[in-house]
Amino acid sequence: MPAAERAPHDPAIARLALASLTTLKVGGEAEVWTCESDGAVRDATRADFRVIGGGSNLLVGDGGVPERVVRLGRAYADARALDANGDAWLGAAVPLPGLVRRARRLGLSGLEGVLGIPAQLGGAVVMNAGTRFGEIGDALQEVELMLDGRVERVPAADLGLGYRRSALPPGAVVLRARLRLTPSTPERVAQAEAAVDAARRGQPKARSAGCAFKNPPGDAAGRLIDAAGLKGLRVGGAMIAHEHANFVVNLGDATAADVVLLLERVRATVAVPLEIEWRRWGLPGGEATARGWDPEPVGRRPATDEG
Ligand SMILES: Cc1cc2nc3c(=O)[nH]c(=O)nc-3n(C[C@H](O)[C@H](O)[C@H](O)COP(=O)(O)OP(=O)(O)OC[C@H]3O[C@@H](n4cnc5c(N)ncnc54)[C@H](O)[C@@H]3O)c2cc1C
Repeated sequence: MPAAERAPHDPAIARLALASLTTLKVGGEAEVWTCESDGAVRDATRADFRVIGGGSNLLVGDGGVPERVVRLGRAYADARALDANGDAWLGAAVPLPGLVRRARRLGLSGLEGVLGIPAQLGGAVVMNAGTRFGEIGDALQEVELMLDGRVERVPAADLGLGYRRSALPPGAVVLRARLRLTPSTPERVAQAEAAVDAARRGQPKARSAGCAFKNPPGDAAGRLIDAAGLKGLRVGGAMIAHEHANFVVNLGDATAADVVLLLERVRATVAVPLEIEWRRWGLPGGEATARGWDPEPVGRRPATDEG
């Protein structure tokens, strides 16, 4: 895989409301570094950072985050390398929905289970996104990571993929992923997708970040929340969806504080302990920052585990 070419002004740096980069549409500002080449990613990861993909599994606090937020740009979002042969390296910013459509058109099987997931390929790998019909790990062969300023290839078998999780080394940025899909026909792929689509039909269309809680062993978080009578529970602009109790929807003006309070109310009401599925930034109990690889080692701030 050749490194992506450096574009002028690469990386592009801007202060942005992270609400604009997440599907839930809440969250304060950060300095966003949009990278169009591996060299830019290397530069961007020299100081403490976070990586954003499609922002579809993220709850960002109203105060934003102080670290830079690394984002892969258009150079990493081209799905055309996937052809009828089915074995391709793809950039980590390729949007999953377009990739699923392309695979169907080419008659390639292996991505049906991730139909309807609004992730980027890199974020899907990190979360091992999927459904009971299949997950991204089923098609994943290997990844290219930026780690401590170096590009490394890691086989999928070494990524510790499990139920909505991976065990990527801390500070790794997924640059590319190699998928291997199986030749089939567009009709057969569409047929397999129909079952996934049917299962999704009950999900809300409003702004959300997908399921808020992981399913506890042997049960479904949505069933438990529904049984507790919490559908429609509202805090400010955040509400437990009527269509599916494990979805929190933003009615338009929700803040992260509304969402956090709503999640707390759910957890206080449901008898079974529920673990939040979303990654949280700038909030208590949230995801640690990745440590930059290069700056002066003396006095460097250690990775923080908020809360
Ligand atoms: C309507 C809706 C439906 C959904 N349905 C499903 C579903 O059926 N199944 C499912 O599994 N999920 C589902 N999700 C949740 C979400 O789409 C997945 O968790 C997805 O994997 C998140 O990918 P992302 O690119 O949006 O990552 P983000 O939300 O941007 O980030 C998630 C994590 O991945 C890290 N990350 C992102 N990109 C990279 C990268 N290139 N390198 C290193 N780290 C990276 C981030 O730092 C963060 O820790 C749904 C979400 C929505 C909004």
